[in-house]
Amino acid sequence: MTESERDATSTPGVPERGRPAGEGTVTTEPEPPARVLSIHAHPDDQEFTVAGTLAKWARAGSAIVSVCITSGHAGSNKYTPPEMTREALAPIRQAEQRAACRLLGVGEVVFLDYEDGALEPSIALRRDLTRLIRRYRPDAVVCGDPTVRYYGRSYLNHPDHRVAADVTLDAVFPSAETRLIFPELLDEGLLPHHVGAVFIHGAERPDTWVDITETLAVKVAALREHKSQMGEWDPEEMLTEWAREQGVPRRLGAAEAFRVMVLDGD
Ligand SMILES: [Zn+2]
Repeated sequence: MTESERDATSTPGVPERGRPAGEGTVTTEPEPPARVLSIHAHPDDQEFTVAGTLAKWARAGSAIVSVCITSGHAGSNKYTPPEMTREALAPIRQAEQRAACRLLGVGEVVFLDYEDGALEPSIALRRDLTRLIRRYRPDAVVCGDPTVRYYGRSYLNHPDHRVAADVTLDAVFPSAETRLIFPELLDEGLLPHHVGAVFIHGAERPDTWVDITETLAVKVAALREHKSQMGEWDPEEMLTEWAREQGVPRRLGAAEAFRVMVLDGD
């Protein structure tokens, strides 16, 4: 998240106000999945986007693992001391991400230490995410929308966000469930795993809404844990407005909206 993102008049990941729900709209909220893998590019991405849903599911008993593909070591901003280096920033941001996840009830955080700001849709990353899906065997994966190049007229989606989402979907299908893709994972004892559903946030045509009225406050608190990024800025007003806007199509006071892919097993 950058200053320009915060200032964007059309908020990233938030549907245009009052946009009608699309075809295939799910009118009832899905049950919390038993096991969830939440995959994002940077520390704080999860807190800006899906933290209300994750906190709600954690309270309902879901086992949630959060995957942070980079360590956010390029996340400098006007609050960053001039002497800060990438090497010094990485452990700070990892600690902030762990603190945020503790508040949300996320049980485990995995950092893959890819390069912040230069993420590529590589086979190595696809293999790493496939490994995690086979290890944690989630019922649902939560990620961004790789097809969104920009939101509104003032926010260009971060390339790392697109790559993280793109490779996550490729890992979910076909890699995780196909025995002879990445056979070296079989040698690690990691058998194929079919993911039942993917919750895609930031989709321009969402079809599923999660009511986060009860967890908006903890979402705000979790985002505040990213102190190196927040500085003096209080995210409460912006997150509250995003939640309000996302809830409009379903007449919810506070929501997170998703496009949900329900994947057939063979
Ligand atoms: Zn980000």
